[in-house]
Amino acid sequence: METEAILIRNVRPVGFTPGAAPAAATDILVGADGRIRSVGPALPPTPGARIVEGGGAYVSPGWTDLHAHVWHGGTDISIRPKLAGMQRGVTTIVDAGSAGEATFHGFREYIIEPADERILAFLNIGSIGLVACNRVSELIDIRSIDIDRTIAVVEANRDLIVGIKCRASHVILGSWGITPVKVAKKVAKILKLPMMIHVGEPPPTYDEVLELLRPGDIITHCFNGKAGGSIVEDEDLWDLVTKCADQGIRLDVGHGGASFSFKVAEIAIQRGLLPFSISTDLHDHSLNGPVWDMATTMSKLLSVGMPFEAVVTASTTAPMSAVKLATDDLLGIGKVAELTVFDLVDSDLSVRDSQGATAKLHKMFEPRWAVRGAQLVRASRHMPKEGTASVCTCGAHG
Ligand SMILES: [Zn+2]
Repeated sequence: METEAILIRNVRPVGFTPGAAPAAATDILVGADGRIRSVGPALPPTPGARIVEGGGAYVSPGWTDLHAHVWHGGTDISIRPKLAGMQRGVTTIVDAGSAGEATFHGFREYIIEPADERILAFLNIGSIGLVACNRVSELIDIRSIDIDRTIAVVEANRDLIVGIKCRASHVILGSWGITPVKVAKKVAKILKLPMMIHVGEPPPTYDEVLELLRPGDIITHCFNGKAGGSIVEDEDLWDLVTKCADQGIRLDVGHGGASFSFKVAEIAIQRGLLPFSISTDLHDHSLNGPVWDMATTMSKLLSVGMPFEAVVTASTTAPMSAVKLATDDLLGIGKVAELTVFDLVDSDLSVRDSQGATAKLHKMFEPRWAVRGAQLVRASRHMPKEGTASVCTCGAHG
């Protein structure tokens, strides 16, 4: 039933103007063509429209997860997009390097095109991507990269590929060191695309990676707490990270199974260093804990002191801008609707970070509905059955 209008009643817009407090409650009418038709208090009923009773909930630009793995079937690590997508309040999923040049065509045909969500991708600089993620490294040696084919695949898929991904930690690179990051940079410069670099266990060091990045590039796993990879254990690295963030290098959370530390995030936020974007790094070994979903990840950042409006921006327009999606006037008449309706509710849920530290979430983001064009999907958090939680600690997949 995607031919009917959607009337969203009594919702408070937030995140449409970055940093601004939530606006007064309003109604939003989305036409059967999926475009915003009118916005204002107490809109008249539209015959045949599906009605969403917001009840004073928030509405934001569609949640955008800048780092997830959804090349299901083409990699051993990925989950199906629907597990990370509209049903969880996420309208846009950015896949972070699950596919390399050798497998991108399958990802496009079998996953991206049929999905309800918008899926964009960083292309892995390693040709095979994450086929056998933690067993066969995509960057095992210098034969793992094919520059000509990588450029050709990007050129043929410019509508979907938004950057180049490189995993820069020793479990992936072995003794190859920083060289693949340099090659990724060369390719990204040729293609005029940003890079997303995963940092973790050195070598290469976080410092070495930062020195290669340019404004618009992204560091993912920015608040990992790994020895040698944490930004709060080395003041020189701290100074470098803050300088790079000021210059426009984007710090992305990329929670994952092994890459988010409450302690690091809390200290960084207390000292005034906020992440540019909040992302899950959802994959098969983080879905059933410690990550669960986008809402829980957002709630974790809120719990360590990130202001509510900043959490919303870092989960919507900030990641959208990182992949060159338009972010202005998203409730403007005629714009294609991409919205998440959510509440912020009291909670006492205990959650873990990637290092096993626990924390209590006193406020929880609860997605209620996701709207993308004329699609309307009921959303909720991922609530697995008791006893299914598992945490992979191998470190290879962030
Ligand atoms: Zn990842």
